[in-house]
Amino acid sequence: MDGLMMDYQLNVPAILRRGEQLFGDREIVSRLPDRSWHRTTYADFGRRTKQLALALRNELGLVDGDRVCTFAWNHHEHLETYIGAPVGGFVTHTLNIRLHPDDLTYIATHGGARVLIADKVLWPLVEPFRDRVGFEHVIAIGAGPTPDGTIDYEELLATQNAADWRDRDIDERAAAAMCYTSGTTGRPKGVVYSHRAIAIHALTLTSSIAMACDDVCLPVVPMFHANAWCFPFSSILAGVKHVYPGQHLDAPSLLDAFESEKVTISAGVPTIWMGILQALDAEPDRWDLSAMRTMMIGGAAPPRAMIEAFGERHGLHITHGWGMTEMCPLGTVSGVRGQEAGLAPQEAYDRRALQGPPIPFVEIRGRGEDGFIDWNGVALGELEVRGPSIASAYHDSPDTDDGWTDDGWFRTGDIVTIHSDGYVQIQDRSKDLVKSGGEWISTVALENTLMGHPAVLEAAVIAVPDEKWTERPLAVVVFREGRSADAEELRAFLAPHFAKWWLPERFEVIDEIPKTAVGKFRKTALRERFS
Ligand code: AMP
Repeated sequence: MDGLMMDYQLNVPAILRRGEQLFGDREIVSRLPDRSWHRTTYADFGRRTKQLALALRNELGLVDGDRVCTFAWNHHEHLETYIGAPVGGFVTHTLNIRLHPDDLTYIATHGGARVLIADKVLWPLVEPFRDRVGFEHVIAIGAGPTPDGTIDYEELLATQNAADWRDRDIDERAAAAMCYTSGTTGRPKGVVYSHRAIAIHALTLTSSIAMACDDVCLPVVPMFHANAWCFPFSSILAGVKHVYPGQHLDAPSLLDAFESEKVTISAGVPTIWMGILQALDAEPDRWDLSAMRTMMIGGAAPPRAMIEAFGERHGLHITHGWGMTEMCPLGTVSGVRGQEAGLAPQEAYDRRALQGPPIPFVEIRGRGEDGFIDWNGVALGELEVRGPSIASAYHDSPDTDDGWTDDGWFRTGDIVTIHSDGYVQIQDRSKDLVKSGGEWISTVALENTLMGHPAVLEAAVIAVPDEKWTERPLAVVVFREGRSADAEELRAFLAPHFAKWWLPERFEVIDEIPKTAVGKFRKTALRERFS
């Protein structure tokens, strides 16, 4: 017997309709480059979003499925593109402004970009890749002169009238957004989010952290990081006031924004919160954060001491999330209502330092050497996941099939224990990458380039713990007989090929890199030695 329910499409247009119909007067506030605040409402945002969707089709000739790249800070225009592209039937492809121009060129080209929408204030970073990609149209956001050969964002919107908009029932399985993630080896890989995955995930996030229309949400996590953890979509569903920090991400600016806009929920990587904690410790009475309900930390493991310090010294609550670009991105969440009932504060901090149990519609299992691990908090295995908001393949990359098991679960590359109550605890990572300030650094790419230096025989790059950035790369080198080079020279050799923040500060010279039986670098031994 079939169920007799409507075949209602879970799509981004449905999210926008809800926001406009129910929460038209809610505010969307952004900090502009000159530090002033820009204020608008959901009603105005809806109108402009439709103008953008119309303009992409009518003025620029885009057709269903075309990719619209963004290269921008978090602000209201970026939100308009986030929603406007999928509502119009196109795909938002967010580009990470911190990447090297070579990677940006590859990612935009591989993704099939036709249009780039970028901040004027980021133009020095746009120029080095823009002409290499072959965008058909480049649109510039923000005040000031419009760069040569580009279209001004406001002028583009002004060509269209939102009254001409006709809502479309887009297939929920169609692509809505794309985001590339670093590969351990080879090129970055494209994750393609469907409307359905975003809609389900946005709803799950909303309920997991109990977002409601009296909340005020400031995502510090960039919109080019895995859908800004889905906060823009969840915020519209829940009807919260959005606050976007623009380029002003230093701790005092964020704290000023938390106070003046009465922010109740924020989200970012540990490096951001470490800066916030230091600022609060230095001036505990400067900011009134009494409105703050929770600060979500994810993207890397937050130290337990940080969770405790926020709680004990500043009365601030941390929610800890684990996730991946491939998962929309949230997979587990720790520190939400009910999870810590009856626990003493110290026990609650212990628990919140774990990654937490899976959110609804994320299933987990751990694969050990002899089959699936018991959920006993001791056995180690690689975490595998499945669910409706988890990637089933990478965009146009058939050689990456080994990211999934034969029965269709996604292999996370995180080594975990799972406790009897489903709490996941990350113990290690099988992925050979460094995560610095929430951004990936490819050890393999650094090694390969280093080994091109005439003095270097072998090079292995490992992640070492760092208080500010969570991890930093350390390069271990073996020199050729009779040759050597100092750290300065090696850094200068790497510099043209990588973003500056990829370059290791530390270089260690050894006689021979320890190897596994099959001749691979035994990085565990190096980590033990140099961490
Ligand atoms: P990304 O796709 O850039 O979001 O990176 C996902 C990876 O970041 C995960 O597979 C983990 O290795 C790491 N990660 C994310 N969140 C956490 C967390 N809360 N604790 C530890 N590692 C994390």
